Amino acid sequence: MRSIPYGKQNITQEDIEAVIEVLKADFLTQGPKISEFEENFANYIGSRYAVAVSNGTAALHLAAMALGIEPGDRIITTPITFAASANCILYCGGEVYFADIDSETYTISLNSIEKLLRSHPKGYFKGIIPVDFTGYPVNLEDLRKLAIEHGMWILEDACHAPGGYFIDSKDKNQLCGNSNFADAAIFSFHPVKHIASGEGGMITTNNREVYEKLLVLRTHGITRENLIKDFPNPELQGGWYYEMQELGYNYRITDFQAALGNSQLKRADEGLKRRQEIAEKYYAAFSENKNIKLQKRSPNNYNAYHLFVIEIDDRKGLYDHLKANNIYAQVHYIPVHLMPFYKKFGWKEGDFPNAENYYEKCISLPMYPTLTDSEQDYVIEKVKSFV
Ligand SMILES: *Cc1c(COP(=O)(O)O)cnc(C)c1O
Repeated sequence: MRSIPYGKQNITQEDIEAVIEVLKADFLTQGPKISEFEENFANYIGSRYAVAVSNGTAALHLAAMALGIEPGDRIITTPITFAASANCILYCGGEVYFADIDSETYTISLNSIEKLLRSHPKGYFKGIIPVDFTGYPVNLEDLRKLAIEHGMWILEDACHAPGGYFIDSKDKNQLCGNSNFADAAIFSFHPVKHIASGEGGMITTNNREVYEKLLVLRTHGITRENLIKDFPNPELQGGWYYEMQELGYNYRITDFQAALGNSQLKRADEGLKRRQEIAEKYYAAFSENKNIKLQKRSPNNYNAYHLFVIEIDDRKGLYDHLKANNIYAQVHYIPVHLMPFYKKFGWKEGDFPNAENYYEKCISLPMYPTLTDSEQDYVIEKVKSFV
């Protein structure tokens, strides 16, 4: 029996041909596939602008910069996420604050955010980075009200949720990352995510100013527009001329990665549907079982199911049992505030009880479009036999 991971990319012949085509063409990087990918992705998500970058962490860093984090700015995020959602704040010299999760949805809790906000003067926090954890869309319409009241921007980490949506009060589907309520959103194209480009990331926004900053920051802060030309003879600066006006980075994606992302994007809806089927089958198999807790479902939410998480008392026992049967489940995530690095800032056990209780029990079962029915049956059988 081949081993079953918790997540896996799906590369087709069409994907391979799309990459080969670029390898034979004129540009390996900075070619036409990048803007094509950006345009297609913006259309898919429903945002005005999209900027492709080298990975999801770079997307977080640049978006945080473009939204204007300055040294000392206090930014809120969730402890149940990949460390990068918090690290990007520190890259900009900001201070990381956490708000506890909701024990049913596992996403950042609006109540705990409100509590944190109310215990400080208005203006104390500059921004918030909610995460659509597992693919469960955070209700950004509600969060936006709080953000307006407290003068905060919202950067949505939608790495788990391309294609996921919540329904707003006007009964409209709000796709994760469409930036109707957030100021910007980011995605990752790491192979375990919905759309794989090797490494890769995307920032989406509807804000032209943020968009233009991102373009400059992505490539060293160098621009050929709005030139200053602070020379005695500016007219002697010719066609070669450019200026570095800000401190940026090299966070560019390559053209062949963009070609792969583009090709994968065509199958994104197909993959989402398959993820729904797999989730339905897990729910049907486990919902009657008193020893297994499942993530809450809501008719107002379309979960994109990057992950399928269950909670169980003997999590380590189940993890080892599955591993012994060639099933490589994972744990998402060890709370960020309990990482040795973050503990140095004074965070400690007991700070976020919901996140910590969740971490004691959570385990992510295999969830990816090419998981076959018989493989899923096998996973379900092994979970049940352990429980
Ligand atoms: C994957 C991921 C990232 C980082 O993306 P990379 O492309 O690996 O840098 C950030 N946040 C979340 C929630 C993720 O799952």
